[in-house]
Amino acid sequence: MSINSASVLQILGGGPGGLATAYYARKAGQEVILYEGASSTGGNARTLKLGDCLFDTGAHRLHDKIPDVTDEIRSLLGPDLLSVRAPSRIHLNGKRLRFPLSPTDLLRHLDWTTLGRIAIERARRRGRTDVTNFKDWAIGQYGETLARMLLLDYSEKLWGEDTSSLSATISGGRLRNLDLRAFLRSLLPGDDSRHLDGDFLYPKYGFGTIFDRVAESVGQSRIRCDSRITKLSHEQGRIQSIETNGQTLEAQDTLISTLPLTLMLQILDPEPPPSLLDIARSIRFRKLLLCVYCLKRSRFSENASIYFPDPEIPFTRLYESKNRSAFMAPEDQTAIVIELPCHETSRHWQMDENRLLQDVLTTLGEAGQIQSEEVLESAVYRLPFAYPILEVGIENRVRELVDYLERFANLHLLGRNATFRYLHTHDLFSQAKSLIGRISGTSDQG
Ligand SMILES: Cc1cc2nc3c(=O)[nH]c(=O)nc-3n(C[C@H](O)[C@H](O)[C@H](O)COP(=O)(O)OP(=O)(O)OC[C@H]3O[C@@H](n4cnc5c(N)ncnc54)[C@H](O)[C@@H]3O)c2cc1C
Repeated sequence: MSINSASVLQILGGGPGGLATAYYARKAGQEVILYEGASSTGGNARTLKLGDCLFDTGAHRLHDKIPDVTDEIRSLLGPDLLSVRAPSRIHLNGKRLRFPLSPTDLLRHLDWTTLGRIAIERARRRGRTDVTNFKDWAIGQYGETLARMLLLDYSEKLWGEDTSSLSATISGGRLRNLDLRAFLRSLLPGDDSRHLDGDFLYPKYGFGTIFDRVAESVGQSRIRCDSRITKLSHEQGRIQSIETNGQTLEAQDTLISTLPLTLMLQILDPEPPPSLLDIARSIRFRKLLLCVYCLKRSRFSENASIYFPDPEIPFTRLYESKNRSAFMAPEDQTAIVIELPCHETSRHWQMDENRLLQDVLTTLGEAGQIQSEEVLESAVYRLPFAYPILEVGIENRVRELVDYLERFANLHLLGRNATFRYLHTHDLFSQAKSLIGRISGTSDQG
């Protein structure tokens, strides 16, 4: 199907996926209108302000993976896109290990018994190719001790699931940065592999600026914020109308949805078959609490992020925005953001926010004491759709839902939560570009 030049392309959701789609559509000369439920665009990748400090909604960075996407983003940000070198650390048993792991750090921080066990497991290790769950994959790759210490406890906190029920595919996605291959390779003489994790691109005033610039380029008049989509009516294999703010709008020839996959099923009218609604109910997203503290001190650490694999500590990661760009906070202040993954029923998700902020600071104590008088401002920020939980066998269930939705002649799905896949900004730009290329009949838009 190619876009009718007289019709307006409708985009649902104004996160990175929706904005990137609107951007490439405009480049292809298509008229667009984007509906966003929140009062501002950016979705899960925004930059917000607390007191005088800027912070991102989760530790974001731009992966320089697809050259033409990087060039596109560079063209939007110009000199405001910085090349950053800021290594991360792993906080383990009260120590901060370098990340990616360095052999000298491990030798320094682990006792000989543990090191011996790691070496024996490593020698006996057989990388299996038939594994389907993450636990077997991690143990097969790294041996029980190293896998448990660095990957399994961490992942169980992150997903809230036993790692034997998680798909092995998460190893190539969200946890790629905990890949230990670089470490194992670095034990070999003559290794010159780059420790890529500390090098990345980052906008001067926060990750969300990428999407602010995209929105500017699309034009604010084409973006409708505070427009939550509450119903999609369909007939004869086509979405006929969209309901937002009590208004019913006619659906156009091309509708691109970036809304969470499960929500799409729920707002269809008439309802999908009960078997599909059951599948939709079985698919879950992990939520994330962000505890943000603006501190009266110039630095908390020197690291981009600090990871916390210890199962006794409820949070997974701390990041300090100033270590990505010095422009994120005044010279004598710094902001730290602590990520605490949850289910809706989790104690932390339901906790009083002031108590939560206090408890997290107390737990942090050992990793970096903060005096209460240093805290200038603090706040909790919630991401209800932070991570799609990729359980073993999820692909088939997701496929059924996507296939059902994509049978509507004028509907396309794009985005991380819409397609239930681990996608990053570079993937979303790339997919938006090729989708617009396909539906507008222009294969290359430069
Ligand atoms: C902690 C964390 C760290 C991350 N780190 C990185 C990183 O380093 N680099 C990177 O590239 N990516 C990173 N990501 C991933 C990145 O944030 C996502 O890929 C991106 O936000 C997905 O964009 P999206 O448009 O698909 O979905 P979303 O960002 O979820 O946007 C969907 C939009 O739809 C809107 N919406 C929902 N329901 C409705 C409705 N009914 N009506 C209208 N609008 C609606 C939402 O308000 C939202 O604005 C990270 C994510 C998290 C959570």
